Amino acid sequence: MVGLKQRLVDTVLGLAEDEDRLVSDLRKVAHVGKLIAPSMHREQLRKLEWAIDNDHSAIELIRRIVRDCDQSFLRGFLTLFVEHTWEGSRQRKRFEQQHGLWPPSFVVISPLAACNLDCAGCYAGAYGHMEPNLSYDDIVKIIEEARGWGTRFITISGGEPTLYWNRIKGDDQGIKDICERYQDMVFLMYTNGTLIDEAMAAEMAQLGNITPAISVEGFKEETDARRGDGVYDKVMAAMDVLREHKAFFGASVTYTTRNLDTIASDEFIEMLMDKGCFYAWYFMYVPVGRAPDLSLMVSPQQRERMAHKTWEWLNTRPIFVADFWNSGPLVKGCIAAGRPNGYMHINHQGDICPCVFMLYSAHNIHESDSDTPLLDAVKSDFFEIIRKGQREKENNPLAPCQIVDHPEVLKEAVESTTASSTQEGQTLLTELHPLLQQRAQEWCKIADGLWTQSGTYTGLAREYTEDQWLTPG
Ligand code: SF4
Repeated sequence: MVGLKQRLVDTVLGLAEDEDRLVSDLRKVAHVGKLIAPSMHREQLRKLEWAIDNDHSAIELIRRIVRDCDQSFLRGFLTLFVEHTWEGSRQRKRFEQQHGLWPPSFVVISPLAACNLDCAGCYAGAYGHMEPNLSYDDIVKIIEEARGWGTRFITISGGEPTLYWNRIKGDDQGIKDICERYQDMVFLMYTNGTLIDEAMAAEMAQLGNITPAISVEGFKEETDARRGDGVYDKVMAAMDVLREHKAFFGASVTYTTRNLDTIASDEFIEMLMDKGCFYAWYFMYVPVGRAPDLSLMVSPQQRERMAHKTWEWLNTRPIFVADFWNSGPLVKGCIAAGRPNGYMHINHQGDICPCVFMLYSAHNIHESDSDTPLLDAVKSDFFEIIRKGQREKENNPLAPCQIVDHPEVLKEAVESTTASSTQEGQTLLTELHPLLQQRAQEWCKIADGLWTQSGTYTGLAREYTEDQWLTPG
């Protein structure tokens, strides 16, 4: 079986040597596939065929990746795809039979809270950049459990994870060794990028299964204002070396009332593409942590503006753009609390949290003597109440979030279970709660206007083409 999987990856890699032939072969596969594939995949294949025939920007993105990425990345991502659908799907089915629920797709691990910067409003900074940290063995244990469910994708966050690239404190192995150890898995690493030099970029390229998402807040003025003097130049330098080494990388953008005009501009997204980014994750500032600043959180009207922009770029530019909130329809709403095909977050203290922005937990990997602490968290009342809230709100995936769209659900989940705050001084469920509820009501009204009862966009889709490839459904 290993040989067969390998041959499949090699065949596609061979096709990728000629981008025109790859696209034309993809069209043939989509055309035949939509006639014979199981019904659940037919719609996707129809959309792929339509995208090729209509020269959709996603096809240009595929061409960019094939042209500008090292073969090692193409091999890494194809291996992920093959492993995920092959062995992974068997494991997921087994998990469902054993536990009566479909497993999450991935976990986010924050090995450390320490960082070489001190950015305003960072959820990791909210922990005070302190000890303790996860050990190499802790990370391996988490990955092994998730891998057993069929997971082949891990996100590494922080703190600043590149501080642990070569050595995790207390161990003589680092994140680089984790990537080497799990070559049939892919790692997405959120980083401020300031420590990515020539050597690290070369190692990432050689590994082929790690993709850095570099934080950037706009152009020089906005980035340095939030992250410190000189950070923008270092970020640009990191992108340059990654592009030289043909790495697959992207950007991570937090939008606030201060930088919205810049990061919602076409000039900004074009700059990211020029620097070589293949994707950009957009995150709205949310007032979590010890020193929340509600004045940084965008208004419902500004959030709507961002929604229009990200959907427009997704359909017109050769870069994958997703907004952690406004792209809810792509993943059918909120993905927190170990939802089927969703995720959970393990912070540097070992707390298992439903989401990176929900700083509450009822389980800790260090305090558990179970072999399956993640599964115990998934089955807990705390996670179950959040998943019940997701199901109740699934009629509008543009308003999926129990932090900012339905804060009463998170409040109930925390107050009616053994969950507690993972850091002192949070005001999300106390002083901030009435204000968040007011904002949430305003947003839900707007979101309901954008999302019709039939489950399609009104305002968002109509502006582009009639046959939207990347709209849900
Ligand atoms: S809780 Fe909110 S931020 Fe977290 S995954 Fe769900 S929608 Fe996204």
